[in-house]
Amino acid sequence: MTVPHFDMVVVGGGIHGAGVAQAAAARGHAVLVLEQHDIGSGTSSRSSKLIHGGLRYLETGQLPLVYQSLHERERLIKNAPNLVHRIPFYLPVYQHSKRGPLKIRMGLSLYALLGGLGKAVSFRKVPKTEWAALDGLETKGLSAVFQYWDAQTDDQALTQAVMRSAQTLGAKLALSATLTSAVKEEARYRIHFLENAERQQCTTDTLVNAAGPWVNAVADCVSPPLQKIETEWVQGTHIIIDDTVQQGIYYLEAPQDRRPVFVMPWKGRLMVGTTETIFKGDPSEVRPLESEKTYLIETLATYFPRFRSLQTSDIQSAFAGLRVLPKAESGLGQRPRETRFVVDDGQQPRLLSIYGGKLTTYRATAQQVMDQLAKSLPRRKIIADTAEIKL
Ligand SMILES: Cc1cc2nc3c(=O)[nH]c(=O)nc-3n(C[C@H](O)[C@H](O)[C@H](O)COP(=O)(O)OP(=O)(O)OC[C@H]3O[C@@H](n4cnc5c(N)ncnc54)[C@H](O)[C@@H]3O)c2cc1C
Repeated sequence: MTVPHFDMVVVGGGIHGAGVAQAAAARGHAVLVLEQHDIGSGTSSRSSKLIHGGLRYLETGQLPLVYQSLHERERLIKNAPNLVHRIPFYLPVYQHSKRGPLKIRMGLSLYALLGGLGKAVSFRKVPKTEWAALDGLETKGLSAVFQYWDAQTDDQALTQAVMRSAQTLGAKLALSATLTSAVKEEARYRIHFLENAERQQCTTDTLVNAAGPWVNAVADCVSPPLQKIETEWVQGTHIIIDDTVQQGIYYLEAPQDRRPVFVMPWKGRLMVGTTETIFKGDPSEVRPLESEKTYLIETLATYFPRFRSLQTSDIQSAFAGLRVLPKAESGLGQRPRETRFVVDDGQQPRLLSIYGGKLTTYRATAQQVMDQLAKSLPRRKIIADTAEIKL
C-alpha cells in the first residue's frame, strides 16, 4: 500500500488550522488538515465573536498586536462582508470607573492612530441628550459615554468559510481524524492518525500543530520530544439571554473585579461575556460555572437596571472556551496575548506549534507560519494571495 505524502499536515480545524491550510494551499502546497471533531468545534466557536483591535491591550503596551489586529480587521471587513460587520461600541465612564474620561480619550486616540486614522477608527463623545437612547443604560453616576467602532462575526461560520476557501484551493480535510503520533524520519514526519476509528498514516515535509488548548497534548505525540511552552488554560464564559440591545456593543467594567465585560446583540438575543477562570482538567470538558453565570448577570444588572431581577435560571444558553496563556506570576489581565510559535529545529524547522492567538489575526499568523516553514517546503507555483481572497 502506498502511503500518501503531503507538503504539510495541519493538526486542528480551528481558525488557526483553517488559516494555515488556506495560506499553504494558496502557495500551491499539498496540505492535509486533521480535525478530531468538526470545523471550529473547539475555541473557535466559543469566543466573544469580535474582530477587533483589542482596545484593552493598549494598557499592557501590546501595540504591535493592536496595530496588526486593526489592519486585519479592515481586511476581513473588505474580504468577508457577509461574515464580518462593523458595529458601534459604547464605553460608559462612571464616577467610580477605573479609567476616567481623559484616559479613555487618550486610549481611543492611540487606537485611531494605530488604525491609520480615518473613519473606521473615528470615535466621539456621546452627547448627554443621546444617553436616553442607549438601551436603558444606567445613567446614575454616569460622567461620559464614548462611542467607537470595531467589528463582530460568527466565529464558527468564519472558520468554516476559511476552511472552505482552503479546500477550494486544493487542501484536503479529514474530519473525525485524530493525530496519534508523529515521528521524525530524516527530512520528513511520518504521521499516524485515527479516522473514524480506522488507523491511517501519511508522510509530510512539514507539520503544524494548531490544536489550540490541546497544543501540548499534540506535542506529546511527537518524537523525538519537542520543546513546549508551559501554559495555563483560562476559561471564558458567555451567557445568552432572551432580550437584546439595539445600539451596539457595550464595553463595561465588572463591578466585582473591574475586568472588561461586553454586552452584545447576538442573533436577535443578548450575549454577555466574558470571564477569566483558571481551568484544570480535560479541555473537552470545559463548561460554564454557576459562579461565572452569577458574575455576568450581576454585571449586566449593574449597568442595565431592567435586569435587576434576572436569575441564572433565566439564562437561555451558555458556553465556555479556553484561552491558552503562558504560565506566569503576573495577573491574568497582564499576560501577553500575542501568538507564540515553537519549532522543532531552529536551523531548519519542519514542525511548528502555535500557542494562543486571536481570531482576528488568524490570517497574519498563518503567513508567519508559512514563512517560518518555507525552508522545508518544496517550491510550488503560488496560486492566490490570502490578503485578497474573498470569503
Ligand atoms: C473566551 C474567549 C473569548 C475570545 N474572544 C475573542 C474575540 O472576541 N476575538 C478574537 O479575535 N479572539 C478571541 N479569542 C481568541 C480566539 O478565539 C482563539 O485564539 C482562537 O479561536 C483559537 O483558535 P485555534 O485554531 O488555535 O484553536 P481551536 O479553535 O481550539 O482549534 C483547535 C482544534 O484542534 C482540534 N484538535 C485537538 N487535538 C487534536 C488531535 N489530536 N487531532 C486532531 N485534531 C485535534 C480540536 O478539536 C480543535 O477543533 C477568544 C478566546 C476565548 C477563550
